Amino acid sequence: MRPELSEYPFDWMLWRSLISASRLKHGSEKEYQSALRYIPYFKGVVNTIYNMGSPGQKFLKIIETYVERIVTAKENNRKVAMTTFCFSPALLHAMDIVPVSLEPMTVLGSVMWKRGCLDYMDFCTDIGFSETGCSSQRGSMGAYLARAASEIDFIVIDSAGVCDTNSNAFSFAATYLNKPFYGLNYPATLIDDQTKHYHRDDYRNMITFLETHTGKKLDIDRLREVLNQHAKQDALIHEIEELQMLVPNPMPVTYNFLIYAGRFFFSGVSLYTELLEEMLEIVKQNAKQGKSGLTGGQEKLRAFFIYIDHYSLDLKLWTLLDQRGISHLGNILSRGFSAKAPYIKYVQNHGYQIDTSTLDSMIDSITEINARMPMVRSIRGPYDLPHMWLEESAALAKLLKADCCVYNGTPGCRNTWSNVKLIANDLEKHGFPTHIMYGDAFDERVESWEITSTRLEEFFTIRGLL
Ligand code: SF4
Repeated sequence: MRPELSEYPFDWMLWRSLISASRLKHGSEKEYQSALRYIPYFKGVVNTIYNMGSPGQKFLKIIETYVERIVTAKENNRKVAMTTFCFSPALLHAMDIVPVSLEPMTVLGSVMWKRGCLDYMDFCTDIGFSETGCSSQRGSMGAYLARAASEIDFIVIDSAGVCDTNSNAFSFAATYLNKPFYGLNYPATLIDDQTKHYHRDDYRNMITFLETHTGKKLDIDRLREVLNQHAKQDALIHEIEELQMLVPNPMPVTYNFLIYAGRFFFSGVSLYTELLEEMLEIVKQNAKQGKSGLTGGQEKLRAFFIYIDHYSLDLKLWTLLDQRGISHLGNILSRGFSAKAPYIKYVQNHGYQIDTSTLDSMIDSITEINARMPMVRSIRGPYDLPHMWLEESAALAKLLKADCCVYNGTPGCRNTWSNVKLIANDLEKHGFPTHIMYGDAFDERVESWEITSTRLEEFFTIRGLL
């Protein structure tokens, strides 16, 4: 790793960049425009976020707070847990543990810095971790392994049995950093009673692990507060999702990103609820006026992303979609699968219920939430079994009246690359032209954004979609 990158901790640099970004609008518009001249590599993402209006500024505050909590954890006497986006952070917030979710942290570095997280990614392979592993963990993980970031206290994940590269990354980190580690096993099915009981016991053991390493008991009132906020957040998201089915879709193109990023950072925390409230108001207003959420106003195409998005510098994917009049209908990350979700009966799945009446019911609820996080929910077995990836994607694409489907992931994702062509063919049979992006969502050295975007545009043209 370049020595200059060890000068300042990775998360501290993110935090300071976010603070600067959030202050840019404190002055006049003229001052803001002048300031942009001094941040040539940062102005793209800043502009994209500020163009979202008030929700953009709120989102900036959310990520700034998230990273600040990591950087200041020690002085605030809080424990820090390295974790994954497949793991709901709600329990950690309820236990006053500061989560460092590696994949969203990689996204932050990738969209904010021209250098991305590539040096950290390479550090992992320098010390022996497989370079064929998923780049989403490797990006920020390298900084923690190089001890060029805040100190973490323990590691907790739930991807064992779901995603080998994900769980291997965390067990590698636990060994390398010599930290306590808890890997939840995966629920083989979401609806079978035996599995449910096994999974709930496993989850309770994990709580004991967290209590041991924090020296604090799980606080029932705090857990209830987090779950009540969670239920509020779900209700707001469901309203937005209902409106998203309208043609034209009244939801601005970047809002899916805000929904899932907010969930990964602050599920069950009021900051995220406030963001969703503002977003819903805007979506509602657009819907009332029969307006599309796209900047140009005209919806030309509706695209459903069956996997994840592309996190190149400045959030270029969303700019492209917005400029071309393409509505983003969400992806595997943007939906939570609660029992009240407007799509739940169409995906033939059993959503989670939030029951805050007793400690037991709350733990069961949070276990169920966790079992429906992305990957754990639909990438945990053969793609075409009931309740899995194909069924979920086809049902959602149909419900959302998608004109096409798009796959983007990382080459390290054996879970999807083993069957991506099969699922694309299946979706074509369901009537959805489907494009496979060959880039890496977090590493542009695999395929440049120029090539990736050219191929995507080519798909829209050749298939007569635009
Ligand atoms: S993108 Fe693929 S490899 Fe990465 S965590 Fe998800 S399932 Fe695992």
